[in-house]
Amino acid sequence: MSLFARGFTRQNIVAIAVGAVLACVPLVVFNFWLSGVAERIGQEEIDLSARNAIVRAEHRLALVIETLDALAAGGVGTCDAEERSAMQRAVFATAPIKDISLLDRDGRSICPRADDAAADDAIRRIYSSESLATPQGYALDVLTAGNGRRMIRLRRPAAGGGHEIAALVPTTLLLPQYEVDLFDAHAARAFGGPGDRHGQGLYARLETRNRAMLAEVGQRREETIGDLFIGKSHSDRFGLRVEMIAPRSLMAHGQWGIWWLGLLVTGAVVMALGLFAAFLSFRQPHNPVADIERALAAGEFVPYYQPIVDIATGQLRGAEVLVRWKKPDGSLVLPGAFIPLAESSGLIRAMTYDLMRRVSDEVGPAIGQRLGLKVSFNFAGKLFADDAIVQDVFAIFAKSAIKMSQVVLEVTERDPIENFAVTRQIISSLQGLGVRIAIDDVGTGHSGLSYMLKLGVDIIKIDKMFIDSIGTDRNSTTIVETLVDLAHNMRMDVIAEGVENFEQVMHLREIGIRAAQGYVFAPPLPGSAFLKLVEAMDALGEGAAQERDAAAAA
Ligand code: C2E
Ligand code: CA
Ligand code: CA
Repeated sequence: MSLFARGFTRQNIVAIAVGAVLACVPLVVFNFWLSGVAERIGQEEIDLSARNAIVRAEHRLALVIETLDALAAGGVGTCDAEERSAMQRAVFATAPIKDISLLDRDGRSICPRADDAAADDAIRRIYSSESLATPQGYALDVLTAGNGRRMIRLRRPAAGGGHEIAALVPTTLLLPQYEVDLFDAHAARAFGGPGDRHGQGLYARLETRNRAMLAEVGQRREETIGDLFIGKSHSDRFGLRVEMIAPRSLMAHGQWGIWWLGLLVTGAVVMALGLFAAFLSFRQPHNPVADIERALAAGEFVPYYQPIVDIATGQLRGAEVLVRWKKPDGSLVLPGAFIPLAESSGLIRAMTYDLMRRVSDEVGPAIGQRLGLKVSFNFAGKLFADDAIVQDVFAIFAKSAIKMSQVVLEVTERDPIENFAVTRQIISSLQGLGVRIAIDDVGTGHSGLSYMLKLGVDIIKIDKMFIDSIGTDRNSTTIVETLVDLAHNMRMDVIAEGVENFEQVMHLREIGIRAAQGYVFAPPLPGSAFLKLVEAMDALGEGAAQERDAAAAA
């Protein structure tokens, strides 16, 4: 399993999920704020467009006023050829003006034109008339010309005072057309297509103070107000109002940058979160219990075998099984690093059972053919608290080539026994199956002799600490001698642990110990090496003969 995957324990995933949710809150707030900014920009943009349209209209009408003032000041007040041509020149010179004429008191033109456009410019209907506050003397009419076009007519007294001089301005010239083009171009870009000029464009409407329509550009949208940006502006001076309406989608171009920013920030946060999660899963100390659980399921706990030797004859007596954690990278972890956790987490039961099955598979046939050999398993004190163990051990070895009589269970003296009566009962049930019980680490634990005497075990294993001091420390030597005597009197076997040199072997022989294990003979060996040792030290013929002898003796 990869390092990465190993980081994704259930706890990590929950932590990452909580982190993601917590990180999402500021993200949502940020995006909410951003959409507020986008909204404001859209609204500001449409307000500005409406304001611009009004300023432009005012500017054009001011030009007209300037022209009419100049004509009046120049003495234009009759239909003289010269004055007519002055008016004509003014029409050409002032862009928005379509026609300039002199009007009598009834508003009729006093200088009828004979050109082709005269009929077009004739007044068909006047909708409204009002006088302007500034400059004084001016009036503004809204009317329809002969060609059906809406016009604004600005008029003032002409020179001489008898008539009025008036200029016609098509209202469409007061409403900027190019704004619409501009918006359509943006729309086209925003939607990646040519843009539907009337479907998606801006709608603009110019009207008088009393809401009479002057000019219109685009088509009024049917969307509800929420989908539209609406901008309004008005000219106090000329009594004009403009209303501009744009669908939100059209204004999107203005917010594009912001949406990109939102997207970018969201993406960056999500990516940072992902990297952080990955970083955590690499860095965070793993849940060690979950690690053991996973390794157990993956079969990473394997048995090693330390030979136990008869130091009187040199023959192999069997082996103690010592667990090793074989990591996927090939490294071996010693039991001291994980057994305490396996015990406290309760995984020790499954681990021990798994180990027994593996031993049974690996060396079962070789051991089963040699009844003189015993296989010894370390059993945590905890396992003796539940009598299910008796049934379980039976189930495992009933199917195995290893006979019950070849199984030894070691219980360490280091662990205090919580319920002595139950433990005693379980031990005797196991002995009933033919299994033998050993007390491990004798001399180091809480109990001293009392366990030995009361538990009714079959073997005592004297701890390395005592073996090391035999021959050098008189007290230790005496204690070991006493233990050995006592054990023999109680028909218990004695095994010396951690024997590292031949001097120690000599001492052990002297005090009557027959069995020993330790580096002097062999370290814990992997299954394949142990099997070779079994073959080498106890060729099957000899073992089979022993078996016959043992059967005959019984
Ligand atoms: P232990 O049962 O007392 O096992 C003997 C320990 O002494 C082993 O250490 C062994 O490798 C080491 N040893 C053997 N000969 C010598 C020697 O000559 N010199 C020295 N210095 N050490 C020697 P290991 O394998 O590290 O195991 C440590 C302890 O872990 C074991 O002590 C046992 O209490 C526990 N253990 C091992 N396997 C299991 C298991 O399957 N279940 C349980 N519950 N405990 C286990
Ligand atoms: Ca042991
Ligand atoms: Ca021991």
